[in-house]
Amino acid sequence: MSEKPKKENKLKNIIVVIIPIIFIVAVIAGIFIYKNKESKEKQITYDKLYQDIIDKKVEKIEMIVGGSSVTVKYKDSDDEKTTKVNSLQPFMDFINEQLKSGNDLKVDLKNPSAFLTIAENIFGLLPTILIIVLMVMIFKMQGFGDKNKVYGTEDENDTGVKFKDVAGLDEEKAELVEIVDFLKEPKKFKAMGARIPRGILLYGKPGTGKTLIAKAIAGEAGVPFISMSGSEFIEMFAGLGASRVRKLFERARKISPCIVFIDEIDAIGSRRTSNSGSESENNQTLNQLLVEMDGFDTNETIIVLAATNRPEMLDKALLRPGRFDRQITIPAPDLLGRLEILKLHSKDKKLAGDVNLKDIAGDTAGFTGAELFNLLNESAIIATRNGHKEINRVDIDTAVKKITVGLEKHNRVVSEKDKKLTAFHEAGHAVVSKFLETQKNVKEISIIPRGLAGGYTMYKTNEDKFYVSKTELEEKMIALMGGRAAEKIALNDISTGASNDIEVATGIARDMITIYGMSKSLGPISLKVDEPYELQVFGENIVDEVGVEVKQLIDTAYVAAQKILLSHMSILNAVADTLMEKETISEEEFEKFFNE
Ligand code: ADP
Ligand code: ZN
Repeated sequence: MSEKPKKENKLKNIIVVIIPIIFIVAVIAGIFIYKNKESKEKQITYDKLYQDIIDKKVEKIEMIVGGSSVTVKYKDSDDEKTTKVNSLQPFMDFINEQLKSGNDLKVDLKNPSAFLTIAENIFGLLPTILIIVLMVMIFKMQGFGDKNKVYGTEDENDTGVKFKDVAGLDEEKAELVEIVDFLKEPKKFKAMGARIPRGILLYGKPGTGKTLIAKAIAGEAGVPFISMSGSEFIEMFAGLGASRVRKLFERARKISPCIVFIDEIDAIGSRRTSNSGSESENNQTLNQLLVEMDGFDTNETIIVLAATNRPEMLDKALLRPGRFDRQITIPAPDLLGRLEILKLHSKDKKLAGDVNLKDIAGDTAGFTGAELFNLLNESAIIATRNGHKEINRVDIDTAVKKITVGLEKHNRVVSEKDKKLTAFHEAGHAVVSKFLETQKNVKEISIIPRGLAGGYTMYKTNEDKFYVSKTELEEKMIALMGGRAAEKIALNDISTGASNDIEVATGIARDMITIYGMSKSLGPISLKVDEPYELQVFGENIVDEVGVEVKQLIDTAYVAAQKILLSHMSILNAVADTLMEKETISEEEFEKFFNE
């Protein structure tokens, strides 16, 4: 065979593949643009939908099971509107409430498959063709992809986010100012011979503002922001991860200086352990990322920021010099941080005079920035539903409760026996806590089921603490054991209801011994390891001793809880009886049991 026909053949192949792709891409783009335009015009906000349902203006809503989009049909118009619902459960509960209170709203829940059938009717055979062509595209993507847009990533030329939009986190911001300067004037730094970090890892829980701060760096420096999520592109197309990483960086080089942000990097950067299945897929992707980062040359000003909640999962190779050699922890906000965040996000909200943001910051220990943001939104919705003109303190309190312990489920049927058990269980927690110096701030006790729990005992958390004392850990375990102990003492039976308490208490005991060095016989030694085999260096005796001491701690706590309850049986009975009758006991009501 001569050279020529071979070449022609290749060209022919390319044309055969590329022409349908162009055609299909054009059709898809057309549909998207059309749909987008159409849906933008017809969108209403979630808050408006709430209000309109309350005002009985809505004739019918339609949703797809498992989806988040709601189609709304109004009584006075033939047009259909749509809105997005962020958390489905509260919305469904709200709808149920409305239906019960006599709203004549019609609700149409559709199965996703029914939706597909409709779509198929509309587009006829198009989906089948699309799927075939998409498959071809996937296989050929490495060669013929659209060079400017990398699938699964997002580009922002100007994020518009500034450091002032990130509340609190002052130290972290101060540390990152340097990066901003560098992005602004890379030449100056390079001329000086400064070594600039290529990669920065941001550690922190979801919602603590990692994405926000990365965007703020880009915004402050006035450079583009390209982002992608690790999990997203592992899940969607097997075999594409590495190629996508390559394209992402190709694009970054073109628009440099810029910020590349990789969310959930643990999804691609997990430790390379085996070579099978999705694991090896991850490895290819991770390897490509390492290759890209090692390959930055001095003319390129690309800073890669990556976020994770699970630093211990990351492959150590990612942390070597020249890669993610700088790590910054983004903590959940402390009291002051929460106040700052609340101030920032309440700027555009109408707050009533009785709202004191300081108090709210005090009531929301452990909330992340995203949760605080959500809290203010929920409060606004609740205020609207309550017919208030401004957001009142009660609206916010309701929202706090809703977010901390899940939704009240008044309508869940609870048998008398379960009710009694829950009452004694929660009374047990509360009464035991009252006799423990570090646990005595009981705020509310209830046997109304919330979330997965049959009841709850809520504590006041007013101060933020960095350190927790051994006494506090011990007393926490005693309070946790109070539930099970009360079941046993009062009903001479035990239930599965204490499983979470036991899990938490065991975790505390284990951490005390293996992390905090609070063991009696082992002393201050850390047995924290990445892999179980690493424990071998300590020898069997030490490992056995951990088990013995964990058990001792739990046993001691359980006995202490029993002792407290046995010497205050009348209070336990009274609290449990009141719970069965009223379902919820407030802080003040609870105090009274101890004054009498
Ligand atoms: P992460 O990337 O850590 O999961 P995000 O940056 O996506 O969190 O935060 C989600 C939202 O929560 C932000 O868009 C912002 O509204 C709010 N938020 C989180 N932290 C802060 C903060 N420190 N200051 C102001 N808003 C915050
Ligand atoms: Zn419990």
